[in-house]
This record gives sequence, C-alpha cells and structure tokens, in this order.
Amino acid sequence: MTKAIFTGSFDPFTMGHLDILKRAALLFESVTVGVLENMEKRSAFTAQERCELIRRVVAAETLQNVHVEAFSGLAVELARRTGSDCMLRGLRDAGDLSYEQRLEQLNLHLAPDIQTIYMAASPAYAHISSSAIKEICAWGGNLEGLVPAPIQISIAERLIKR
Ligand code: ADP
Repeated sequence: MTKAIFTGSFDPFTMGHLDILKRAALLFESVTVGVLENMEKRSAFTAQERCELIRRVVAAETLQNVHVEAFSGLAVELARRTGSDCMLRGLRDAGDLSYEQRLEQLNLHLAPDIQTIYMAASPAYAHISSSAIKEICAWGGNLEGLVPAPIQISIAERLIKR
C-alpha cells in the first residue's frame, strides 16, 4: 500500500475535508494531513490551532493511520519527508479541477515520482468550503452538518468573536 499526504489550509476543517480523509484512510497505508503554515496573517486559526482541531476529529473518528502536521513550503517536500508517493486532492467542481490540474503539472515538474490523486467530493458535501463556513458563522448561521461535531463549538466561538 501507498502513503499519501492531504494538504490544505483547513481554515477551518469541514465535513467535506473529513469525507475525503475518511475515504482516503481506507485506501492508503497512512495519510498525513499537511496543514499549511504560511498563510497565518489572513487565517482565522493559527496552524497549531488548525492542527489541534483536526487531531480532535481524527481521534473521535479513530482514524489510526492518519497523522496531522503543520508545514510550510512545497507540498512535494512534505511528501518526501513523510515517505509518501501520493498527494491527495479533493474535487468539488470544474473550477477545482482546472486549478488542481495546473498544480498537478507544477508538482510533476518538481517531483515526477510523486503522483497526484483526485477524489471527487461526495454530493452531500460538495457545496462546503472553509470560506463559506466563515461567512455563515459571521452572520450567526448554524454550523451543524457543515463542520465535524467535535469541533463545531470551538469553530463557532472563534468565528463569531471575530
Ligand atoms: P487550499 O487552501 O489548498 O484550497 P483547502 O483547505 O480549501 O485548501 O482544501 C484542501 C483540500 O480539500 C483541497 O484538495 C480541496 O479541493 C479539498 N476540499 C475542500 N473542500 C472540499 C469539499 N467540500 N469536498 C471535497 N474536497 C474538498
């Protein structure tokens, strides 16, 4: 079996991210969730906070082959460091696909031995994005079903206060 990384901002982690992660955990020997650090200034949560929230969900879901770590720089370097031969990406729509295809070509240029694997969003979660979560919460909307239950209160507290 192969090892994979699943990178992103995860600001915050949503049900859409969790859906991809759970499906990937069944397929791969291990999955490292790489939480992008170098976006601190415009993020709602620090990288360490985002890691902690994701770890809480991973523990609640008992995803024993999933690891979470913050990283900065190139995703291909994280893949090498963790011994992964695969970079996993989730696709919601055609917009995601065209963006991801460009990223895939750049990553192949940098590391031809590391493959990008796409997983289509489950229809139930394809409409969810971290930016929508922030928007909904800012206007007092309910996050139930949009973010994982174990982190719903922590996310709402932070985003409402902003
Ligand atoms: P980025 O800043 O790299 O776009 P995100 O945290 O938004 O990071 O997303 C990380 C990964 O999760 C990306 O591959 C993205 O396409 C995927 N993703 C985001 N939301 C969903 C969703 N609702 N369903 C499936 N995949 C998703």
